[in-house]
Amino acid sequence: MNIVEVKNLSKKYNNLEVIKDISFNVEEGETLVILGASGSGKSTILRCINNLEKIDKGNIIINGRSMIKEEKKGKLIYNDKEILNKINLDIGMVFQDFNLFPHLSVKENIMIAPIKILNKSKEEAEKIANELLKKMDLLDKKDEYPCSLSGGQKQRVSIARSLAINPKIICMDEPTSSLDPELVGEVLKVIKKLAKEKRTMIIVTHEIKFAEEVADRIIFMDNGKIVEEGSPEEVIKNPREKRTKEFLKRYIDLEPEIVTKKRYIKRKTKREKENKMEDKIDNENTIKNKKINEVGSESQRELDNIEPKEVIRFFREISSIPRKSGNEEKIKDYLVDFAQKRNLEYFVDEYFNVIIKRKSEENKKTIAFQAHTDMICEKRDDIEHDFSKDSIKLIVDGDYLRADGTTLGADNGIGVAQILALLNSDEFKNINIEGIFTVQEETTMIGAKEIDLSKLESNKIISLDGGKEGKILVGSANCLEWSARIKKEYEYNLGDYTEFKLIYKNFKGGHSGGNIDDEKRGNPIKLGIDILKQTEDVYIKEISGGSRVNVIPRDFYVEFFMKKEKLNKVKELIKKQKEFYENVIIEIEEGNEVNKKAFSKDITNRIIDFIYNYENGVLEKVNKAVILSCNMATVKEDEDYINIEYSTRANDLNLRDIYLKRLNKLIEKNNLEIIWSQELKGVNQEIDNELINLCNRAYKNLYGKDLEKMIRQAVVEGGFFKDKIKDLEYVCLGPDTEDVHSPNERLSISSLQRTWKVLEEILKIY
Ligand code: ADP
Ligand code: MG
Repeated sequence: MNIVEVKNLSKKYNNLEVIKDISFNVEEGETLVILGASGSGKSTILRCINNLEKIDKGNIIINGRSMIKEEKKGKLIYNDKEILNKINLDIGMVFQDFNLFPHLSVKENIMIAPIKILNKSKEEAEKIANELLKKMDLLDKKDEYPCSLSGGQKQRVSIARSLAINPKIICMDEPTSSLDPELVGEVLKVIKKLAKEKRTMIIVTHEIKFAEEVADRIIFMDNGKIVEEGSPEEVIKNPREKRTKEFLKRYIDLEPEIVTKKRYIKRKTKREKENKMEDKIDNENTIKNKKINEVGSESQRELDNIEPKEVIRFFREISSIPRKSGNEEKIKDYLVDFAQKRNLEYFVDEYFNVIIKRKSEENKKTIAFQAHTDMICEKRDDIEHDFSKDSIKLIVDGDYLRADGTTLGADNGIGVAQILALLNSDEFKNINIEGIFTVQEETTMIGAKEIDLSKLESNKIISLDGGKEGKILVGSANCLEWSARIKKEYEYNLGDYTEFKLIYKNFKGGHSGGNIDDEKRGNPIKLGIDILKQTEDVYIKEISGGSRVNVIPRDFYVEFFMKKEKLNKVKELIKKQKEFYENVIIEIEEGNEVNKKAFSKDITNRIIDFIYNYENGVLEKVNKAVILSCNMATVKEDEDYINIEYSTRANDLNLRDIYLKRLNKLIEKNNLEIIWSQELKGVNQEIDNELINLCNRAYKNLYGKDLEKMIRQAVVEGGFFKDKIKDLEYVCLGPDTEDVHSPNERLSISSLQRTWKVLEEILKIY
């Protein structure tokens, strides 16, 4: 039975609609957990259910009683007081900050509702209080006052108090979020106890692990709407919606993909091992050829003497702060500390984005610099390094600065360090400098998406990410990413077919923005499907390939059935493919499956037709720059579906839209269901504007030539800033780095010295 029914609920504060036509039910005995970013409307829903806020549209029905009597001329009329009182008795509320009466003892805090609301005698009320306190393991505190209790104890009292009138439903709004971490456990424990007793509960929490354990069902809210609903297994372990994934990423380290099939996992790990082996060999070779200053005091001294000293000093400090994407709290603290010590105005948001401002006395022109604080954490297999606590060891290696077998984090720590050096500088006194530090650039881009730039005065932002010496990035691609799926159906009568396994490994892969132009990299998913297409009359049994939507796949695996006499033809096709790509593995093996079950002909053909006809790689170029490209990124199975992820990058939206028409036809033809998609916005290609000209003048003053304007297929954070700042001018500048995102990441010191001078010159002449 549904004990809570929320029907088409909408709620406005002033004119801001914060709950937008939400409906859900709670069954008796059920524990419902509401997840969602702060501001998404979770508290408001609880407050509406508790009748602490009036609703604007819809209805709430508690234990069969309707809060709303009727609607008159678009206005809701609440039910009679008697009914509302009865409803109130059915609901208990636990608040984040306890709300205990400070002037009453623990026991009295619990007794007050039974006495005043249920008209119980003092003795009866005391009996209730004692029982509940015993249950909360707090009987010994009954005569104390709230001020002498720990946060965890206070919250347990508050839970006891909400139970005192024995309500049908208990609502809890972030019951542990104002507690010190060590006190969270004791409160979660008593809540779990209540869940076991089959109390009906609606809990808002950010404790994901707890939510997973305690919830029968989870609702994920975003921006006043329910975007996802299901069991913990579904919402937490296998979130479907991008927003849910992003949210969860901030709280737990989600596996890139969680697969239900054990065999798949096994094979994947084996594959991963093989990939790692390759990296290792690669790295060993490069290292053998180099003389390295080990991280002794000598190297340290060398580091101290490198110009620009201030930048290097900040970079060293940053290198001791773990800052994997999604884990930017510590670097945020460091930045805040930096600002506080220097008395600089700063802003921090819930994502740990930071903005720091250095105001000039004369308050003249303003310019902003931007960098991201997170870094990719990759290491060699033979290196012991814990990215959650160890410092990155810096090594001077000729002209290069690199790390000791790990990523260096110059992407984008050197940008952060440069901005700090500018903010810290005594020079350029008549210019306002604004530093923008964003999070999760390497994963969700949520920092750039969510940062509030209304605090900024400047409409000119120089990003110090993704630069190249002598060049200025003036345009980046718009990127569309999709995940689509086909529901599985099976075929069982494959008597005269034989099972085969087609395996592609060791392809180069790479970034789908940066490396798509290199046709020697190949796309194993496309190649494998090509073979199946030409073979004809096959039945796919299992299929998987690729890793992430923005990565060119390195591998592909397909198990399928075909008539045995076709084997020679397949081998011919494989041979041809192998001739074109270097050092790759392409193999076909006969399987020994007796259980001849595979996807139906229709499903098989739809998978093959879609991937075969998908236009992959570079579609358009201008001069040498790619301006339209596509990546067939992943094919993965879950219990019920074959999921396919792919993307399109375009610097020219008209061209893109012409292409999208073709893509949509293909999707329709093969009846794919799109389950999510996202748009990462590009930066328009600007021929010139004030900022580009400023940068160019500075460069020309120093080096006597123009900066080369570049457009890239990669996505930059500035794409997200466009909507936030009127007349935004955005460029990227920076020193040369090599092999970023790999343990071989290196920063050219001389390049840093030259590009740093450009920044100084920009401020001098601005
Ligand atoms: P959550 O619990 O998910 O953090 P809330 O329900 O507290 O979110 O808030 C949802 C939105 O409503 C937010 O944008 C918040 O600023 C706004 N809001 C909440 N309470 C009020 C109020 N009393 N007056 C105006 N706006 C409010
Ligand atoms: Mg809240």
